[in-house]
Amino acid sequence: MATIDLHTHSYYSDGALSPEQLVQRAWDCGVKMMALTDHDSTAGLSEAHAVGQRLGVHIIDGLELSTQWQKLNVHVLGLHLQVEHPGLKILLSQQAAARGERARRMAERFEQLGIRGVYDQALALAESPDTLSRQHFAQVLLARGVVHSLQQAFDRYLGDGKKAAVPMPWVTMEEGIAVLLQAGATVVLAHPLRYGMTLTRLLKLLQAFAAAGGQAVEMATATQDAAMIPWLVRQADTLGLKSSQGSDYHGPHMPWVELGQFADMPPSCRPVWSDWP
Ligand code: AMP
Ligand code: MN
Ligand code: MN
Ligand code: MN
Repeated sequence: MATIDLHTHSYYSDGALSPEQLVQRAWDCGVKMMALTDHDSTAGLSEAHAVGQRLGVHIIDGLELSTQWQKLNVHVLGLHLQVEHPGLKILLSQQAAARGERARRMAERFEQLGIRGVYDQALALAESPDTLSRQHFAQVLLARGVVHSLQQAFDRYLGDGKKAAVPMPWVTMEEGIAVLLQAGATVVLAHPLRYGMTLTRLLKLLQAFAAAGGQAVEMATATQDAAMIPWLVRQADTLGLKSSQGSDYHGPHMPWVELGQFADMPPSCRPVWSDWP
């Protein structure tokens, strides 16, 4: 049980809970410091702060930026950022517009596949058209019985190169990191062990991330291969990267993840929050 959880989602991206419900649940789970890190959005932060103040949960302003690196979708967390930074706001509005456009194009693919009306059903789960995520489409496919797990929805329809996938013009990882740094963020590579890369490729990603100014890797998170942690600790050490931790909680519909629940990071790691005010 961790009291610090630096990776969570509300319904301002593909999470199921409102910021208020999320912070309440964090408090119930014993979390004392929580970053709200919605995908490409800071829209839930003010609501999270209001509840955090009431309950005594310290809220960190964050987001999870969708980026591309060598044609792969790589997620970068920005923590402790300036929400009102103009460059950041421009980037987020571009990403939101691209997200909305992709959702419409994915819906067309589903119509062509004979799976009709998914757009409206997905939209009912989302806060707005521009926050529509592949996760929402996966939930619709699961609810309809088209697939029997969220994973299968990605394997068959939504994953890169699959039947309903539409490539996204996300910001490059390097540009994204630059904008986050300008906005004062501490920049963390999200879930490095979940990209399904070979170790050679993952090492290249870590090197590129550090060279671009990235400051930490997510060392402790809910679903990742524990056997790989010693390898990741060594690479982080070599590259001078700190370590972060977070559940990547999305809501009660994914009961295998809970706020504040993940294995401790090894004691030799330098926590990313060590030099925060
Ligand atoms: P998007 O940002 O719209 O491209 O959607 C990506 C989101 O889908 C991620 O943030 C995860 O929440 C979710 N996701 C990605 N891959 C999987 C998977 N294999 N199983 C379940 N959820 C996934
Ligand atoms: Mn997500
Ligand atoms: Mn992610
Ligand atoms: Mn996430």
